[in-house]
Amino acid sequence: MDGKLTRRRLLELGLVAPSVAAVAGHTDLFGTPALAATPAIADADEPTPALTEGPYFTPQSPKRRSIVPAGAAGTRLTLTGRVLRTNGRPVANALVDFWQADARGAYDNSGYRFRGHQFTDGQGRYALQSVVPGLYPGRTKHIHVKVQAPRKPLLTTQLFFPGVAGNRSDSIFTTDCLVRGWRLVEGRRHARFDFVLAV
Ligand code: FE
Repeated sequence: MDGKLTRRRLLELGLVAPSVAAVAGHTDLFGTPALAATPAIADADEPTPALTEGPYFTPQSPKRRSIVPAGAAGTRLTLTGRVLRTNGRPVANALVDFWQADARGAYDNSGYRFRGHQFTDGQGRYALQSVVPGLYPGRTKHIHVKVQAPRKPLLTTQLFFPGVAGNRSDSIFTTDCLVRGWRLVEGRRHARFDFVLAV
């Protein structure tokens, strides 16, 4: 994957200093203080790779930022990030449609548990409340997602989590789709991922 270490990737790895400091009062959609965006145009990046849809996509998911059914088991997960163009500019009003297994590794194929779509805000941001998905036979932990800039082609891909033993044996796994900023705060997992669309 890292044949070319982009500035964004270096930033994520902590190998270079952000070009701008955290801005007071600038937060993500859940109120978490966020670094100011790297100035647009500077940092072209590789598009997020497409990965197989798999057998469990259901169209017309509900529009919602939390896909956790009431009373569901599992470690709560907050996933935030942006949808970007390869020139680094954010994509406003992009569709981001998530679906995943529950904490036991089961999909809801008759309803919409752990399924939901949303649209990015004016700064290209999305925010998902979910749980860490469970394992099911043959796969490592993953979240499925479709991302689409307005009137542009749909990207279907998957996100993965660091430190999962199954990553090594999953033929679909790629570090290009590994979430960043994986951390546990008061029992809740947090992660970030910026989708880069070839638009
Ligand atoms: Fe799956």
